[in-house]
Amino acid sequence: MTRAQWRAAAIVDVGAVERNCARLAEELRDGASLCAVVKADGYGHGAVECARAALTGGASWLAVAAADEAAELRASFPDVRLLTMGALTESELAVALDAGSDVAAWRPAHADLVAAQGAERGVGLRVHVKYDTGMGRLGERDPDAVLRLLDKVATDERLELAGFWTHFATADELDSTFFDRQLERFTTLAERVRTDHPDALIHAANSAATLRDPAAHFDMVRCGVAIYGLDPFQGDPLDRRLEPALELRSYVADVKRFGQGDSAGYGQRWQAPADTCVGVLPIGYGDGVRRELTNNAEVLVEGYRYPLVGTVSMDNVTIDLGPQTDIAPGATATLIGAQADDRILCEEVARRLDTINYEVTCGISSRVPRVHVKAGTSSTGRP
Ligand SMILES: *Cc1c(COP(=O)(O)O)cnc(C)c1O
Repeated sequence: MTRAQWRAAAIVDVGAVERNCARLAEELRDGASLCAVVKADGYGHGAVECARAALTGGASWLAVAAADEAAELRASFPDVRLLTMGALTESELAVALDAGSDVAAWRPAHADLVAAQGAERGVGLRVHVKYDTGMGRLGERDPDAVLRLLDKVATDERLELAGFWTHFATADELDSTFFDRQLERFTTLAERVRTDHPDALIHAANSAATLRDPAAHFDMVRCGVAIYGLDPFQGDPLDRRLEPALELRSYVADVKRFGQGDSAGYGQRWQAPADTCVGVLPIGYGDGVRRELTNNAEVLVEGYRYPLVGTVSMDNVTIDLGPQTDIAPGATATLIGAQADDRILCEEVARRLDTINYEVTCGISSRVPRVHVKAGTSSTGRP
């Protein structure tokens, strides 16, 4: 047994990210481009390393939500097209533009703000006009207002109309007809934009929309969750030929005998129903293992699942190894990932927490080192 190098670590297989991107890129309609969404530190996977893998896998754009994220990426990728998708204050706008990022415009006043920076810089700044087809966040909702905003951006020499875009609210709900309504609204205007502004890049799809409907591909798709091998529909990623890239590991720091009735953790929220052995893992909610997993999770050790028992502490959790165990301190404990023939998917953890896989990986805290590896070419997600 090799000893753990970290109390807890997120092992990220950049090869999986690369293959997920290649798999997505090959299915895009009419040569649409793949934009890899690496906001929130690549959904907790490490933005720069995942961006590099995505570009190798066939992505040609990168997207983020925040200005600082754009600046971080630009430092590593001097030439790649970047889109900062989120709302930006005036000072954040300057940071995003300094990073050479394209930015969004959702209201005339915001386009003016960008134009003012364009005047200072003496160049046409690249703007993507956003249409709110039903997400109810950024973007003009009225089609005429959108068309006016498009013309405003296209005719202002301080600006360059680089794109026209929207975002779906229910692409991940396969029985949703609202998705089709949004797509229809967008397609109607997209056809006008295609004629009036042929150079503008038209894009709409997130991962779910990309996998669900080629009619949503347009000129580019913006895929986040799927490039990390997470299923946008919260099922098994392997069923969609996506490989989970992240494993969350800790190790068994100690194994101790419990008599019947002995308790583990704060508040005595678990008491041994019979004599048993308990393993102590140095990982807790300070690392992003949520406290709601108290008595409500399983962990893989030596290829078998053991229940997490007792309250999740900030720095530790305990697992019930059963009355007899060969497991010794030092054994790897996998909270998310594969061992032997079993896998604990992010989707499983998300279900236990009544949330989605996105929140699980984004929630792994900065205390957990991200260790980037490139593991083989397996298509099963098992190294
Ligand atoms: C986060 C985000 C995406 C990527 O969504 P996934 O579901 O992770 O593929 C695409 N577009 C916008 C506007 C986003 O905010």
